Amino acid sequence: MQYVKGVGPRRAEVLARHGMHEVRDLLFYFPRHYLDRSNIVPIATLKQNQSATIIGTVKAHGVLHGRRRRYEVILQDDSGAISLIWFQGVRYWERVFEKGQIFAATGMVSYFMGYQMIHPDLERLEEETDQLIHAGRIIPIYPQTAELSKVGLNSKGMRKLTSFVFDNLVEKLPDYLPEAERDDNRLFGLNDAIRKIHYPDQRDEVERSRRRLAYDELLEFQFLVFRNRSRKETTVKKHTYRKPGKRLTEFIESLPFKLTEGQKSVSREIFNDLRAEHPMSRLLQGDVGCGKTVVAVVAGLYVAENDLQTAFMAPTEILAEQHYRMWKEPLARAGVSSGLLTSSLKAGEKKETARRCAAGEIQILFGTHALIYDYVTFRALGLVIIDEQHRFGVEQRGKLYDKGDNPDLLVMTATPIPRTLALTLYGDLDISTIKDMPAGRKPIRTVWRGKDVRDKVYQFVIDDAGKGGQTYIVYPLIEKSDQMNLESVEDAYKDLSKGALKDCRVAMVHGRLKAAERDRILEKFRNGQLDVLLATTVIEVGLDNPNATTMIIEHAERFGLAQLHQLRGRIGRGKKQATLIAVAHPPVSEIGQRRLEYLTSTTDGFEIAEADLELRGPGEIFGIRQSGLPELRTARLVQDQDLIEASRKLLERLFAGYNSLDTGYRSLYKYLEKRASVKDAHLGGG
Ligand code: ADP
Ligand code: MG
Repeated sequence: MQYVKGVGPRRAEVLARHGMHEVRDLLFYFPRHYLDRSNIVPIATLKQNQSATIIGTVKAHGVLHGRRRRYEVILQDDSGAISLIWFQGVRYWERVFEKGQIFAATGMVSYFMGYQMIHPDLERLEEETDQLIHAGRIIPIYPQTAELSKVGLNSKGMRKLTSFVFDNLVEKLPDYLPEAERDDNRLFGLNDAIRKIHYPDQRDEVERSRRRLAYDELLEFQFLVFRNRSRKETTVKKHTYRKPGKRLTEFIESLPFKLTEGQKSVSREIFNDLRAEHPMSRLLQGDVGCGKTVVAVVAGLYVAENDLQTAFMAPTEILAEQHYRMWKEPLARAGVSSGLLTSSLKAGEKKETARRCAAGEIQILFGTHALIYDYVTFRALGLVIIDEQHRFGVEQRGKLYDKGDNPDLLVMTATPIPRTLALTLYGDLDISTIKDMPAGRKPIRTVWRGKDVRDKVYQFVIDDAGKGGQTYIVYPLIEKSDQMNLESVEDAYKDLSKGALKDCRVAMVHGRLKAAERDRILEKFRNGQLDVLLATTVIEVGLDNPNATTMIIEHAERFGLAQLHQLRGRIGRGKKQATLIAVAHPPVSEIGQRRLEYLTSTTDGFEIAEADLELRGPGEIFGIRQSGLPELRTARLVQDQDLIEASRKLLERLFAGYNSLDTGYRSLYKYLEKRASVKDAHLGGG
C-alpha cells in the first residue's frame, strides 16, 4: 500500500481498519453508487419516499433548535430547493459547509413541513467534477465513514487512490476463470470488470462488471459448500450408537401431546443419521410453531443414552431459558441432566456450569452465544443443535462445532429458504422439513388496518382479556426518537396503562431491561398474570405462550415480511382461534402495502419466504442477515439465478475429479482452495 501515491502511515492504518491491506483490496473496494447526468433529478420533481440524487448550491446552513438539535442545509438548483438534515455531528457539519459550494446529495426524500433528506450521502463537487459530470462522465462514489473522511479519504480522496492505481499498475491481476467459462456466460475479463466497476465509460458497463464479479463471488461461496460436503463424506465418526432404547419411547409417550407425522418421520431421519458412519449435517426446517424443539430434545436424549453430550444453542436469552425451563423436568425424569448457560448468569454460576459440563455431569447444555466462549468445554460433545440458525454467523456455528471431535450437527430454522436457493446455500446439508402442524391448530386470522381504527382494536383486546385471552402489542422502537416518527413501547406503556387499557393488566418488555426483570415479566405473562404484553421485537423468535391469542403490530408497514411472519408465530400456538392485527401508519409505500397483502393472504412460511425475496427487489440487501442468506457484495440471489446455475455446474466439474481436469481448470481449483483457506483463517476453522 505504501507505494500508492498519497498513502502515508496514517492513511495506511485507517485503510487497513477498513479491510484494505494491499493494493488488491483497493481494487475490490467498490463504489456505492455513481454520479452522472442520467441519474440526477431536478429538485422540483422530487416525490416522497423516492430515493434520488440531486445537485445543488448551498443557499443557507445552520443549527436548528427544535424538539431536537439538528443541522440544516438548504440546497438549491435551477428548479427549486430542499433541506438536508443531520441530527448527529452538528459540530462537524458546521465546519463543512459554505454558502455557494456545490454538492451532490443522495438519499431518501421525506416530508416534514417541506421536502427533506435526512442524513443523505454527500459529495462535494469542485468545479472540475461538476464539469466532468456535465460532460457526460460517470463518477464513482465510494462508501464513506467518519474515520476515512478524517484522513482525507472521502469519496474524492478514494478516487485519487483508485485512479492512481489504475494508471500506474503495470501488472494485471491473473484471471483464473478459463476463457471458455467467460465466453459461455458472456462475462468481462477480470481486469476489465474491475476497471469498469470503478470507472465505467457507459452506464451499462457497471452491470456487466458486476455480473463478472458476482460470478466469482458465487464460485467462491459455493466452493465452501462443495468442500464441506466432500469433507463430510470422507470423515468417519469415532463413536457408534446403540439402537434407540425403551427410555426414548417412554419419554415420547410421557409428553402431553402426540407427535405429528412430520415430527415422527424427521426424528427417524435424525436417528438414522446419528447411527450412520459419517457425521450428520442436517437442516430441520418447519414453519413457526410446528414443533421443532421437541424433535431436537428427543435427539439430545438419544445422544445422552449413548453417553455423549449435546449443546443446544439459541439466539436469545429468552429463548434459551424457555427451552431449559420447559425441558429440565421431563429430561430429569428420563434420567438426563441438563444445564443452562447465558451471559447474564452470575460469574460463579457460569463457572460451576462450565465445570459440570467439562466433567460430563451435564448431558444437554442449553445456552446462547455464551456457549462458544473458550471456558466452555465438553467431556464428549456428540451433537450440536443450533436453533434459529439464520440468527448466527458461520463463525459462531463453527466455534461451537469445534468443541467436539466431528460431532453431529442439527440446525433448525423457521425461515425456510425458497427451494430455488436451498441447493446453493445449503448444498452441504441434508434437509428435513416438517410440513404439518400439531392437531387442532387453527390458521391465524390476519388483517391489516389503518391506525384510525385503533379504538376498536383496543376494545377487541379488552373483550379478549375478559374471555381469558392474552395479547402482544409490538412496537418498532423502545423510546421515542426524533429521527423517526414512530411509536415507541415506552410511550405506549405510559399512555395505554392509564388510558385505553387501564382495566387490563399491562406490562412491557424490551431489550434494555435487565435480564432478571424481563424474565419476571415474561414469567407472569406465561402464567396468565398479565393480559397484555407491550414489546419490541425481542419477542420475535421462539417465545412460546399457547394462551396468547391476539397480536397487534404497530407500524407493520415498517417490518420485513419474514419478520412479520415470525412475529405472527408467537400466537396461534394453542387450540383457540388467534388473530393478528397489523396496524399500518401512513405513509405506506407501495412495497409496504404489498408486504401486508401477502401477510394477510397466506400463513404458509414457504410462500412468505418466496414473496419476501421477490419483494426485496434488485440490489436491496438490507436485512439479509436476518433471513439467513449470506452477505454477498456483488451477487444477487434472485436476479443472478443463471450465474448461480452456471457456477454450480462448473464446481460439479471441478469436484468430479482433479486428475481429469485441464490445466486451466486445475489452476482455478487451486485458486479457489487458496481463497477458501484465507476465509478459514479469518473464521478460525469450522
Ligand atoms: P417451533 O417449531 O416454532 O420451534 P415449538 O417447538 O416452539 O415450535 O413448538 C410450538 C408449541 O407447540 C410448543 O408449545 C410445543 O410444546 C407445542 N407442540 C409441539 N409439538 C406438538 C404436538 N405434536 N402436538 C401439540 N403441541 C405440540
Ligand atoms: Mg423454535
